[in-house]
Amino acid sequence: MDYKKAISQPIFEIIGRTADELKLDTYVIGGFVRDYLLKRKIPKDIDVVAVGSGIELATQLASKLPKKPQVSVFKNFGTAMVKHDELELEFVGARKESYHRDSRKPVVEDGTLEEDQKRRDFTINALAISLNKKDFGTLLDPFNGLEDLENKLIRTPLDPDITYSDDPLRMMRAIRFATQLEFRIEASSLDAITRNKERIKIISKERIVEELHKIMLCPTPSKGFSLLHKTGLLDIIMPELTALQGIEEIEGQRHKDNFWHTLEVVDNISTETDDLWLRWAALLHDIGKAPTKRFHKKIGWTFHGHEFVGSKMVYKLFKRLRMPLNDKMKFVQKMVMMSSRPIILAEEHVTDSAVRRLVFDAGNNVEDLMTLCEADITTKNPKKQRRYKNNFKLVRQKIKEVEERDRIRNFQPPVSGEEIMDTFNLKPSKEIGIIKEAIKEAILEGEIPNEHDAAKNFMIKKGISLGLCPK
Ligand code: ATP
Ligand code: MG
Repeated sequence: MDYKKAISQPIFEIIGRTADELKLDTYVIGGFVRDYLLKRKIPKDIDVVAVGSGIELATQLASKLPKKPQVSVFKNFGTAMVKHDELELEFVGARKESYHRDSRKPVVEDGTLEEDQKRRDFTINALAISLNKKDFGTLLDPFNGLEDLENKLIRTPLDPDITYSDDPLRMMRAIRFATQLEFRIEASSLDAITRNKERIKIISKERIVEELHKIMLCPTPSKGFSLLHKTGLLDIIMPELTALQGIEEIEGQRHKDNFWHTLEVVDNISTETDDLWLRWAALLHDIGKAPTKRFHKKIGWTFHGHEFVGSKMVYKLFKRLRMPLNDKMKFVQKMVMMSSRPIILAEEHVTDSAVRRLVFDAGNNVEDLMTLCEADITTKNPKKQRRYKNNFKLVRQKIKEVEERDRIRNFQPPVSGEEIMDTFNLKPSKEIGIIKEAIKEAILEGEIPNEHDAAKNFMIKKGISLGLCPK
């Protein structure tokens, strides 16, 4: 069978012709071939391997293309990149590699195509299609990657212990591909990951997080996280999460397993949003529960203050994993901090003032918070499930009503500090703060509408009660 159709884009023919001129056997390899065969969206980055100098091929190709694109050469890696229309063409010379134990940076030597395929992470990523005229469109598959694609199997071309130990990032990649493609990891590979898990420590946090993000953006992220858990990697990367695992029982009282609950919440939210950070918020929303867990004879298990503790842990976790300590982190913190607020509403009677307070505190993140809390409903009791869902619907509806009427979301005090000073002939003083706070409270409680005149009347009364005298 030939695979000419996979490489019907004109650029492949041009690469092949250039390679023929330079007498280089040349192949398209890796993600492009895999995703074509899986009928997935064809990636914009295309990897080309030449038996010889990939850099020379890239340079020669660029000079032939009508736009004469620049060639970015990475001499240390022996690679070169050429941009062509939307595509990023990545050229590399075929190589064989050997590794030192303390680094994932290999010693590289020139090699044959098969040697190059052997050093690739998985058989499904080692498939190559020839671009030379003599065998244009021929698939080279020495490790049965095609069969693995059909069987949905992640398998390494070499002994998995060697593959993972040489470059432990591959452990993360195996789990990421299994989650992304909905593949199974071969048992011996999974065992090898478990045996080599400690090697993950030589990988930079940034690379680990890159894979975590990719897992997080899959339709069912729990698949990846349970594999990370099963192999012991999660315990090394995010012990805060694995600390949530387990059910304790004292005097017949049990609490739920907050680890598996969390994974369910992440899957739930992933059906509602593609927002990476909201998904992270779901993953971390209960991390404060491990350190705050207590048992009380009368009331059973409690996790008092877990939201506050959890939001502090978010900062530490982001810092440790070298994730950005910017507004994304603050957003996750806020979501964790507020994660129980709508639930309290949903369990009780939904009052206007509670809804106003929620909107005041959540501001523009109130919809995201509602999405998180709806995803947090994992009860298997259909009656409770229905009641919570209905109450959340009511909360959402009230949020809309209250917002239309009271404009709480981006709250601006209807009476300014200057007006207060002016009315009572005051210099800057603590009374102004007290009055402003009282006005805000009265609005949130629904005692007065969020309007200037009503607020001004209220202000005058409040001032008098503090012993002040209006002009
Ligand atoms: P995606 O782009 O979706 O992440 P991909 O398979 O294209 O998938 P890249 O990181 O772009 O992944 O790498 C391109 C190819 O390089 C892979 O298909 C694989 O053959 C090889 N490769 C990448 N990373 C490694 C690695 N750590 N070890 C061995 N081979 C790798
Ligand atoms: Mg790629």
